[in-house]
Amino acid sequence: MQELARRWQRAGVRVGLVPTMGYLHAGHLSLVECARQRVGPRGKVALSIYVNPTQFGPQEDLSSYPRNFARDAWLCQEAGVDVIFAPDDTQMYPRGETGDFSTFVVEEGLSRGMEGQARPTHFRGVTTVVAKLFHIVQPELAVFGAKDYQQAAIVKRMVRDLNFPLKIIVVPTLREADGLAMSSRNKYLAGELRSQALVLPRSLEKARAEVRQSSRPIPAARLKAELKRFIERAPAARLDYVEFFEPHTLVPVPSVTRGTQMALAVFIGPTRLIDNARL
Ligand code: AMP
Repeated sequence: MQELARRWQRAGVRVGLVPTMGYLHAGHLSLVECARQRVGPRGKVALSIYVNPTQFGPQEDLSSYPRNFARDAWLCQEAGVDVIFAPDDTQMYPRGETGDFSTFVVEEGLSRGMEGQARPTHFRGVTTVVAKLFHIVQPELAVFGAKDYQQAAIVKRMVRDLNFPLKIIVVPTLREADGLAMSSRNKYLAGELRSQALVLPRSLEKARAEVRQSSRPIPAARLKAELKRFIERAPAARLDYVEFFEPHTLVPVPSVTRGTQMALAVFIGPTRLIDNARL
């Protein structure tokens, strides 16, 4: 892949990268479409598929994460992806089991709260694998989804801080007709769980409605408590966190107004889902 990327670079071909963990859905394909628009018909769109073990905690769903390479490959072909980069663990972390892989990229500011707090080694895995993908594919732009809001902010920060010569583009969250954010993990939501997962988008809508109806800022603690009660009325739902923060710095705010960013993580049965929106 790196050799191909160097050839493209020498020939002046524009390259856009869409990093994914596979089990593609329309949300991923909207990232591909964005990459294609940016690099043009003569540019190259690369999509990586890699379920990166270093971003999963020991109790998380690494081994059960949904995979279907044949279907992904077909979707990529239909979407006009030029190359799929789908390495395996021995290629990405050679000799990892013997401790011979020992260099990691760690972002130490934006990654402290929310997902970083709930999943302590997660972002170290993300920034490390994304840095590796950038060096391997050498794109001039990479496209990420706003669905993973904190991740996109951290990747942008890494690119800025470490002088990666590329631009990060963030694409809005694509949703199902009923509002549920598209996610590979939605596959886990059998039967009743699928409808209970609607507590995520409905929490965002509820918070937005309250903020817009209120003539004054709403204390974040009050809104958090209210949303926790709302979410846990669904029998299979357990709130992991809900946070209100400044959209650029990710700093939590004490009171919530129009323009505050909200993010939440909720377990629906065993499945952990995240969502976020600007209020
Ligand atoms: P994943 O395969 O879940 O790691 O996601 C790969 C990329 O697709 C990430 O940049 C995600 O933010 C993005 N993505 C995932 N779901 C959606 C969605 N519903 N809408 C837009 N982008 C998404």
